Formats: sequence, structure tokens, C-alpha cells
Amino acid sequence: MNLYRIVYASTLSESFSSQDIEHILASSRRNNKKQDVSGMLLFSHRYFLQCLEGSRDNINQTYQRILSDERHCRVTIVSYENVTQREFCAWSMGYVPESHLTRELLFKFSASATFDPYTLSNVSALALLKSLHGTVI
Ligand code: FAD
Repeated sequence: MNLYRIVYASTLSESFSSQDIEHILASSRRNNKKQDVSGMLLFSHRYFLQCLEGSRDNINQTYQRILSDERHCRVTIVSYENVTQREFCAWSMGYVPESHLTRELLFKFSASATFDPYTLSNVSALALLKSLHGTVI
């Protein structure tokens, strides 16, 4: 089965401006749709947590572009795995803004109620993203 999922964490760079998120979502949705890539992007407290699903080649190409994007830094893989099904097939790139991330939810999946994706295990990171299905815009 040539279906893969990557989850990574990253941090906003100094040059990031509030309009950048709209540009990132527009590029992501356009490019991912063409490449049959699905996923979700969570943004909170200067951090991103993103999941990308698709063929190994398309995931790797997308991740390479993301890696060299200067709008964020400290890009760190949380998990990379061969999977049997997509978890985010409804979205070329679903977006969860920080207002949707409650302290209760963070407390459920991490050691504190503060969002820091670098401290999440691979299992907790995916569980957190899945729990946000209903709040995706
Ligand atoms: P365009 O969409 O045509 O670029 C549009 C504009 O975005 C440019 O004019 C420029 O102003 C700006 N821009 C583009 N690249 C950069 C850059 N490297 N640094 C600064 N500004 C830039 N892309 C995807 O295809 N799929 C994703 O899922 C995805 N997720 C992302 C998640 C995060 C957290 C970040 C920071 C970026 C993500 N991107 C994603 C964007 C990716 O890094 C590339 O910018 C994008 O893929 C380039 O697409 P494009 O060649 O069609 O450029």
C-alpha cells in the first residue's frame, strides 16, 4: 500500500505576518488537491502542527517545499508512517485556528494545557488532530 502520513511540528519565523496564513492555505489547497494530498493544519501559540496524507512521492515533494519555506522554522517530524487509510480525506488542507483549541483538549492529549507540539508523542499528535475533525474550517 503506497499511502503515507507525515505529521510535523514547526514554529513561526520572525518574518511571519497575519496574512501569511491565508496565502499558505490557498497554496496548500491548490497544490494538495492536484496531488491527491489530504491533511490538516493546526496553528496556535506560534506553533504549527500539520498532517499530510497521500502517496509517498507526493508527500515527500510537498514536505520538501514546506521544509524550505522561510515563514516557519524548527520543522520537526513527529511521525512518518505507511497507513491503510486516510484520517483527513475530506480536506485538501483543513485548518483549525487557535480559537478552536481548548485547554481541556490540550490537557487531554499532553502533559500540560499549553500547546507545544514538540512535546507531543506521535500517537498524541495524531489523536489531537483527529479530535479536531468537527472544528475544521
Ligand atoms: P505559490 O502558492 O504561487 O506562492 C504564493 C506566494 O506565497 C508567493 O508569491 C510568496 O509570496 C509566498 N511564498 C511561496 N513560497 C514561499 C516561501 N518559501 N517563503 C516565503 N513566502 C513564500 N504548500 C503545499 O503545497 N501544501 C501544504 O500542505 C503546505 N503546507 C504548509 C504549511 C506551513 C506551516 C507552511 C509555512 C507552508 C506550507 N505550504 C504548503 C507552502 C509551501 O511551503 C510553499 O510555499 C508552497 O507549496 C509553494 O507553492 P507554489 O509554488 O504554488 O507557490
